[in-house]
Amino acid sequence: MKEIVKFGYPSLKMKSSDVTIFDNSIKLLVDEMIEIMYAAPGVGLAAPQIGINKNIFVFDSGDGPYVAINPHNLNTKGSITFMEGCLSLPGYYWDIERAEYASLDAYDEKGNLVTYEGDDLLGRVLQHELDHLNGKLLISSLKRKERKAALKEISINGFPGRHV
Ligand SMILES: [Zn+2]
Repeated sequence: MKEIVKFGYPSLKMKSSDVTIFDNSIKLLVDEMIEIMYAAPGVGLAAPQIGINKNIFVFDSGDGPYVAINPHNLNTKGSITFMEGCLSLPGYYWDIERAEYASLDAYDEKGNLVTYEGDDLLGRVLQHELDHLNGKLLISSLKRKERKAALKEISINGFPGRHV
């Protein structure tokens, strides 16, 4: 099984590209991502987190797994602050402000158009994973002072904890 790459790995900072051909290799990649997400365990995993800069993420906020390929048309409403972690920053959690509700359109692994929408955990996961495809990590959502402290902590302690 592929390893989840951690903060500092180049693919996490790059913008990913759209999937253009929905062939068996995409299906295999999606299956592998779902397996890695559950093994972590996590509620979402984006392709850049296993070093692949394709616009794909998988998630399961309770009734999944689901896949979002080439997500677009993000719509958000409201705002809420929530303790949030990331499989690429294992052991760290921060209060992150995001929209309370999110919806987006995407394709499944067969190329069918799908819409995902929700609030609470699902709304948050959709926004978090979409950030990964844009090369954005949790740390960039922190305020300047918090970000400085987080970077310092990571440089001293690395990633001691396991993400739960
Ligand atoms: Zn993440």
